[in-house]
Amino acid sequence: MADVPAECTIKVMCRFRPLNSSEVARGDKYIPKFQGEDHVVVGSKPFQFDRVFQPNTTQEQVYNACAQKIVKDVLEGYNGTIFAYGQTSSGKTHTMEGNLHDTDGMGIIPRIVQDIFNYIYSMDENLEFHIKVSYYEIYLDKIRDLLDSKALVDEGNRVPFQTQPICCLVSDMNEHSSRSHSIFQINVKQENTATEQKLSGKLYLVDLAGSEKVSKTGAEGAVLDEAKNINKSLSSLGNVISALAEGSGYIPYRDSKMTRILQDSLGGNCRTTIVICASPSAYNESETKSTLMFGQRAKTIKNTVCVNVELTAEQWKKKYEREKEKGKALRNTITWLENELNRWRNGESVPVDEQFDKEKAQAEVLALDNVPNDKPASTPNMPQLRLTDAEKDKCEGELAKLYKQLDDKDDEINQQSQLAEKLKQQMLDQEELLVSSRRDHDNLQSELNRLQAENEASKDEVKEVLQALEELAVNYDQKSQEVEQKTTEFEMLSEELNQKSNVLTSIDSELQKLKEMTNHQKKRTSEMMSSLLKDLAEIGIAVGSNDIKQHEGSGLIDEEFTVARLYISKMKSEVKTMVKRCRQLESTQSESNQKMDENDQELAACQLRIQQVLVCYLSYKCRLSFI
Ligand code: ADP
Repeated sequence: MADVPAECTIKVMCRFRPLNSSEVARGDKYIPKFQGEDHVVVGSKPFQFDRVFQPNTTQEQVYNACAQKIVKDVLEGYNGTIFAYGQTSSGKTHTMEGNLHDTDGMGIIPRIVQDIFNYIYSMDENLEFHIKVSYYEIYLDKIRDLLDSKALVDEGNRVPFQTQPICCLVSDMNEHSSRSHSIFQINVKQENTATEQKLSGKLYLVDLAGSEKVSKTGAEGAVLDEAKNINKSLSSLGNVISALAEGSGYIPYRDSKMTRILQDSLGGNCRTTIVICASPSAYNESETKSTLMFGQRAKTIKNTVCVNVELTAEQWKKKYEREKEKGKALRNTITWLENELNRWRNGESVPVDEQFDKEKAQAEVLALDNVPNDKPASTPNMPQLRLTDAEKDKCEGELAKLYKQLDDKDDEINQQSQLAEKLKQQMLDQEELLVSSRRDHDNLQSELNRLQAENEASKDEVKEVLQALEELAVNYDQKSQEVEQKTTEFEMLSEELNQKSNVLTSIDSELQKLKEMTNHQKKRTSEMMSSLLKDLAEIGIAVGSNDIKQHEGSGLIDEEFTVARLYISKMKSEVKTMVKRCRQLESTQSESNQKMDENDQELAACQLRIQQVLVCYLSYKCRLSFI
């Protein structure tokens, strides 16, 4: 019997049930395509397991393939687990329990119980067996014992066991139906009365709650809480399996009671078989696929199994002596190495034959390890321990008490570790918060710095603006003064303009008058000329007639001539004065015209200046109002 740990993978068996009556009535499609003994194709995806059971597989065939070997293993001192996984109504309970009163319909649990007893009866007479059975359910992550622990059936000295007839369990067992996980646990301890060799094996037979999605159950209120809890513990199981499959360093066994109980079965010291149960109906295709995926992930998990041997006091003593020897040898090695190191450090060259011989030291330790342990050599100092029944009972009681304490401590540890986990999570959250706060702080700080820099720049800008404003104010004052000057200038010019305009008007009117006078003079001159000409004509006529009458009286004509000459010289002088006057008037007119032109030019210049001053004034005014 080897007690050297050996690695073995978890066995995964897949079982499809037949279509049930409602699926047949609904006309659901039958989806699995079986290929050989270990392949099934669902939705064109192939899945491979250690065995695939078609719907027509009998309970006995399933038992022989899944469980028979485990009975032998448990009785040889190994731990074993069989658990059924799948959605509700996929056949988990049918597989694990089946019909208890029907020899063909019985599931794995009753068959295993029968087999254990049959096996025990066929074994060596020197072997004494102690069998302990527990049956409990985990409902809303609370463990509830399904057995009446007071019922104790004793079958003589050979096989004492604590249990209740399986048939009595059914009434209590399915109180929460598929919403709870039920665990049937068998502890088998055996002692060889001849050699005092003690072996123990634990067997877990687990019927898990339905793995369907919460949404598909249509659950509400308390039932929904229940469903969520099942989902939580099943997802913890999924997480444990994923972590084991990925070879992660941390396996979250403590996330739920279920995973804590199955800790040894998954990745520990246990031979484990998972039966994944599935419906063949197309209606359940997504659940079936997720069940098959779960099975595939679980298939990659490796357990390390070894026989659970209980050492006798004498064997413990020998082991202790051996460990002590090993400790001594190792201490010697350390001393040797320290001395050698010191010599090297002091610059001394240690000769080869004085150097530490690693191989020799290892061989010595190995020699101590290989001292046989299982054959108890009779040590003179060590009296053989033989306990009376009363002492055994007392020890059992003590042991039970200690187990209870251990369980309590375990619970406490579990609670504390959950608390620690929670606190760790909180700490991580806080750290995350801190990091994000720090990040926010940094962002705010840089924002603040940016704002400060902006503020400084703005201050400079404001300073510049103020300076510019001051300059503008000074400018404004200057310009205002200028405007005032310009305004007075403008007013003066306006005044001047008015005066000039008046002068111009008076000159204009004078000119007009002169024109009128000139015209009048011209008119008079022309009238005078015409009257003179008339007079001259008359004189001419008179002169003509006088020639004829000369002879009649020459004194009269001389008189008339003189008058005429007087007239003519008078007229001549008058014409001359007229011409003179005309010339005067003409020169005055041309002077006036010239003056008028000058005034016009001056006026235009004044208007231009006024316009310029006005434009200037208005632009200043605009700028001032803008400021
Ligand atoms: P679960 O435990 O997964 O909720 P059950 O084991 O209660 O499902 O099975 C639901 C129904 O289907 C039961 O009536 C059961 O008898 C029947 N059933 C399940 N698997 C099989 C099978 N392989 N052959 C015949 N009937 C089955």
